Amino acid sequence: MIDRTAKLAIVGGGIGGLTAGIALKKAGFDVRIYEQAPAFGEVGAGISMSPNAVHGLRSLGLGEFLDSSSNEPIEQHLYHGETGELLQPIDRRGTRERYGAPYLQLHRADLLGALIRAFGPENCLMDHGLESLESRDDGVALTFTNGTVTEADAVIAADGLRSVVRDALFDTKPPEFSGHIAYRGLIPADELSARSTEPLNINHLAFGRNMVTYPVRQGDLVNVVALSKADGWVDEGWSVKADKAELLAKYDSFAPYVREVLENIPEEELFCWGLFIREPLENWRAGRTVLLGDAAHPMLPYMGQGASCAIEDGVILGRAFAECDDIDEALDCYVATRVERASTLQRESNLGGERLQAIDPDMFRDTPIKDEDALGIFAYDPVTTPLLR
Ligand SMILES: Cc1cc2nc3c(=O)[nH]c(=O)nc-3n(C[C@H](O)[C@H](O)[C@H](O)COP(=O)(O)OP(=O)(O)OC[C@H]3O[C@@H](n4cnc5c(N)ncnc54)[C@H](O)[C@@H]3O)c2cc1C
Repeated sequence: MIDRTAKLAIVGGGIGGLTAGIALKKAGFDVRIYEQAPAFGEVGAGISMSPNAVHGLRSLGLGEFLDSSSNEPIEQHLYHGETGELLQPIDRRGTRERYGAPYLQLHRADLLGALIRAFGPENCLMDHGLESLESRDDGVALTFTNGTVTEADAVIAADGLRSVVRDALFDTKPPEFSGHIAYRGLIPADELSARSTEPLNINHLAFGRNMVTYPVRQGDLVNVVALSKADGWVDEGWSVKADKAELLAKYDSFAPYVREVLENIPEEELFCWGLFIREPLENWRAGRTVLLGDAAHPMLPYMGQGASCAIEDGVILGRAFAECDDIDEALDCYVATRVERASTLQRESNLGGERLQAIDPDMFRDTPIKDEDALGIFAYDPVTTPLLR
């Protein structure tokens, strides 16, 4: 059994880092999260949680929060983006029964808030951007940009796509622009026709572009994600304000529902993200440091699996620390159990854009979509899947 006074440091307080923190705390460990931001901020977007993630969140005590804060789409509708014709209604009613957990849609800030409360904000050290780390035989020394230096028996690097730790210890190749961008916004539901607030996931598809809407916060807000191909990405940073006229021009030929939605996104709520990719890594461990979440396996959002996969990581890490005899064994067990699953999600997600946008949408009238459900991804349960040693 691992000594519960072992000092565990998590770098990054996103969905991945917080989930890992809760799971390790639940296993009895003393954990600190070091987050570069001065404060946790409101993230204006929706997020879907598929059954594989819901199992994990429930096991960490977030079941009640999910029940009260999310909605369960009864159907997912695929439409021809330009004609507005319904091509495929995908029935999601059986999901809860089939997988023992539902598929949910909620506000990202609500999820982050619930994770922070469950972990304990007093154990999140804000304004602690990791600058460098040095592996020692039985631990790691961490240096932060605010001048703080600390030591930990193990480090979990959950510092996202542009992970300082990944760059330093695992992979010097920088993230590459994928050729895809995402526009994101939230719209007050009373600005839109009633259809947008029904418990559905509505996806309009055409060559090189699609747009998804679903309701969040008891239908008060509608989440919009418009994904499209783009020649290049020049803006600095990961999240930038988007040009609404440019967005409307891109979707000019789309059906009236799509145009109504896009026209109603408040300017201040419209963001554009360049989507970047990194190659799957075969190993996520260097000394006493492991990668987790987007730092380990960033993926395009075409299957809505990035955060779900980070949640799976966190739950498995907690189980490995609870069940293994020493820290080295726990880190190896975590990596052995997770790499194949996460790399599969990463590869399939990155192909998702081609599956949705590169084919004639009319194909979907007769051919079932090869989505995350059809690929069997929902059947994974991080709470019960065997740990590999
Ligand atoms: C448009 C879009 C839609 C998406 N929709 C979904 C969805 O519906 N469902 C889903 O499951 N996934 C979705 N995803 C993916 C999901 O958002 C990510 O996979 C997930 O947020 C990754 O979480 P993370 O904690 O690993 O990384 P991040 O969320 O990137 O968090 C990393 C944290 O580390 C901090 N950090 C960074 N560097 C340092 C440092 N040096 N020192 C200290 N702290 C640091 C950052 O400030 C941040 O708080 C979507 C992604 C996009 C782009």
